[in-house]
Amino acid sequence: MSKQEEIQLAEDSLLHVYNRFSLVLDHGDGVYLYDTDGKKYLDFAAGIAVMALGYNHKEYNDAIKAQVDQLLHTSNLYYNVPTATAAKKLLKVSGMDRVFFTNSGAEAIEGAIKAAKKYAYTRDGFAGHEIIAMNHSFHGRTIGALSVTGNAHYREPFEPLMPGVKYADFNDLESVKAQITDKTCAIIFETIQGEGGIYPADPAFIQGVRKLCDEKDILLILDEIQCGMGRSGEMFAWQGYGVKPDIMTSAKALGCGVPVGAFLMTEKVAEKSLAPGDHGTTYGGNPLVGAAVAKVLEIMERDDLMAHVKQVGSYLSQKLDEMVEKYDCITAHRGVGLMHGLVCTKKVGEVSAKALEKGLILITAGSDVLRFVPPLVITEAEIDEMAEKLSSVLEEL
Ligand SMILES: *Cc1c(COP(=O)(O)O)cnc(C)c1O
Repeated sequence: MSKQEEIQLAEDSLLHVYNRFSLVLDHGDGVYLYDTDGKKYLDFAAGIAVMALGYNHKEYNDAIKAQVDQLLHTSNLYYNVPTATAAKKLLKVSGMDRVFFTNSGAEAIEGAIKAAKKYAYTRDGFAGHEIIAMNHSFHGRTIGALSVTGNAHYREPFEPLMPGVKYADFNDLESVKAQITDKTCAIIFETIQGEGGIYPADPAFIQGVRKLCDEKDILLILDEIQCGMGRSGEMFAWQGYGVKPDIMTSAKALGCGVPVGAFLMTEKVAEKSLAPGDHGTTYGGNPLVGAAVAKVLEIMERDDLMAHVKQVGSYLSQKLDEMVEKYDCITAHRGVGLMHGLVCTKKVGEVSAKALEKGLILITAGSDVLRFVPPLVITEAEIDEMAEKLSSVLEEL
């Protein structure tokens, strides 16, 4: 099949909800991907911050293959060891008390919303509570997750969505205060906004919200789906702020390639929230993804991946600062660890497309940000390679 035929095969049958790059990927190794013509790409997208361990990680692959032969699925009516092992490890690294595994990030958000609503319902004896979310946030595409996503363009065609959601400005404590009522049960935000353009929370903001929540028994829900699992240099980005959420969500790099998400909570929330009959999932946390999550956490801890992210992350940060100095079209740099954005005055879609020609996979965030979320195993030499490729792209455009 020619590349055009391969693309046509997909376009003939898949629902057209993505304007895809004309790139047909075939296999990957480390931080490199190869297309069906054998062309090599340095990958700074990691399947949207998923492939933290890189591609074709032998130990991880072997663990999944062994689980496929052992037991794929059981339903949640019975116990299995891989999922319980994954849960225990996840609680240990997060300091949370209870976890529910889902199949995706959006489902983790749905669960977090349900847990918060049920907590307030149990406490107050009535429903009808409100949630405060942030402008420019992104929490997923299902109706509940969309209801707390601060992007009118994504929301509008599907209204009316879940009622009782109010919007505040991220990193503006006063704007959050202004939305609080007697009915507020939760405040939700990404510790580092991803899709919205890579905006880390200000320490004063996140600490201020935590204090407000404590004063009013409002639950703080932190979405760590993109910024968690080591990407910030901490296992979860909130761990660098000296605050702890009541509920948090994870997905993306949690499974490093298998579809899995999770919402986690403290015992205080668990006691008063979801009980038997309140929530469930057929696939969520099956033995296959359990084995994957357990292995990911084992590898990250054993190889001290957080120390590596801090080190190469500061190198990447320095390289991106140099881009701001060197190119007029690059006007700002934001980010921590291995989650960065460059604000670009050239059309970012064109920069991405040109980067592909040069063998660099780069994605965008918001309307004017180039996003850098490589596999966490990236090295300084590979960061240099990215910087050279990006420079040549910017010089040619
Ligand atoms: C990707 C993402 C989601 C949604 O995850 P899906 O697995 O695509 O449903 C939610 N929140 C954040 C911060 C994300 O980056």
